[in-house]
Amino acid sequence: MNQDTTITFASLNLAAPLLRALVEKAYVHPSPIQARAIPPLLEGRDLIGCAQTGTGKTAAFALPILQRLGARPLPRTPRRPRALILTPTRELAAQIGDNIALYGRHLPLRHAVIFGGVGEHPQIRALAAGVEIIVATPGRLLDLMEQGHALLDRVETFVLDEADRMLDMGFAPDVKRIIARLPARRQSLLFSATMPEAIRELANRLLHDPVRVEVTPVASTAERIEQRVCHVQRHDKHRLLVHTLTQHAQGLVLVFSRTKHGANRLADNLGRDGIRAAAIHGNKSQGARQRALEDFRTGRTRVLVATDIAARGIDVKGIALVVNFDIPEEPEAYVHRIGRTARMGASGLALSFCDPSERSSLRDIQRLIRQSIPVHADHPFATGAPSEVRTERPAGPAAPIAPARHSGFWRSNRSPRRPGFRGLARAAGGS
Ligand code: AMP
Repeated sequence: MNQDTTITFASLNLAAPLLRALVEKAYVHPSPIQARAIPPLLEGRDLIGCAQTGTGKTAAFALPILQRLGARPLPRTPRRPRALILTPTRELAAQIGDNIALYGRHLPLRHAVIFGGVGEHPQIRALAAGVEIIVATPGRLLDLMEQGHALLDRVETFVLDEADRMLDMGFAPDVKRIIARLPARRQSLLFSATMPEAIRELANRLLHDPVRVEVTPVASTAERIEQRVCHVQRHDKHRLLVHTLTQHAQGLVLVFSRTKHGANRLADNLGRDGIRAAAIHGNKSQGARQRALEDFRTGRTRVLVATDIAARGIDVKGIALVVNFDIPEEPEAYVHRIGRTARMGASGLALSFCDPSERSSLRDIQRLIRQSIPVHADHPFATGAPSEVRTERPAGPAAPIAPARHSGFWRSNRSPRRPGFRGLARAAGGS
């Protein structure tokens, strides 16, 4: 994430209790989305934000919400929040809740995080006691609304976070039902990493004269990250993964599998090969997912195998390498996956293992990101890529993907020799 060092949070007219919390968190300069979104949001404008996790979007909406609520204190009413943030996954909901607690620590405001997979009674109790802000996933919120534990008629600000994922995950009917219960007079915000037609339609219905803020469009996100594709036969992928992990000895590694079953099998097989790994996916209980994430965050487990949905919103610093064990069928998932590394401007490496049956998915990805992904052929299981995928640059000391903006890898690989995994690994863990 780039920060404009000429702008400070104080110059955005944020109130003293929020500035104090930001200083304590050692945030000095707002990220671009924060600099652009906070002023209009403080004025009460609606907003459409084309931004993904990693851009600082949580603070971009959380700070103005906290400020506006804090500026107009009202007696707390049981079950009736004044702000609602709807987000697709439990992990994201928990993270947003944590951020609100941090930024709002010097304000007398309460929040509750509402998601499924855990007992509902603590959530019902929190709502009954009264909270200003709810962060929720759609399914559980609707359940609680239907039982009369949550009423949305006093919502002043509504945030629809990760709207594209929300629709991908089949939440459209739930989201519509929730929106129907909101009061007509409200401030609304919609964030989405991508803006397909369905999202634009939703935005048209939801937002009134919105400010548009776009940061890190899909293509440029992908440009920040060192990417390589390894052509390999399907039956060699596991051995290539072990080889990669052995060569790439530093930093956390996130491995993506297309299926839950595949994720479990991969983690088990890695364990058998002496590499400590855990799997995270939707079939695991909330507790198991949180434990796996915590072990990963603290480095106790170096390798986490995840499915696309489970990985949404994983905000773990120090992921040096993302491995696409399977090439995602949906090109946009590729951008979400590789965005798990290189957080906050750090360097990162993304390797995609591509077997012959996945080459058309790879082409779709390259079309979306408007780049050719260089081939990394310096591994023991390399297969020749057919001529039709030779749009990719040849392996070796090829031209950087975006020379002017790249740092680690190309600096540390000036030698004319082709970089092995060690070279790639060093570069990714390097700066
Ligand atoms: P988000 O896109 O909201 O998930 O934020 C991505 C990461 O950036 C999180 O770890 C935040 O804590 C961090 N972050 C957000 N805003 C700033 C900032 N202005 N300065 C430094 N770090 C930030």
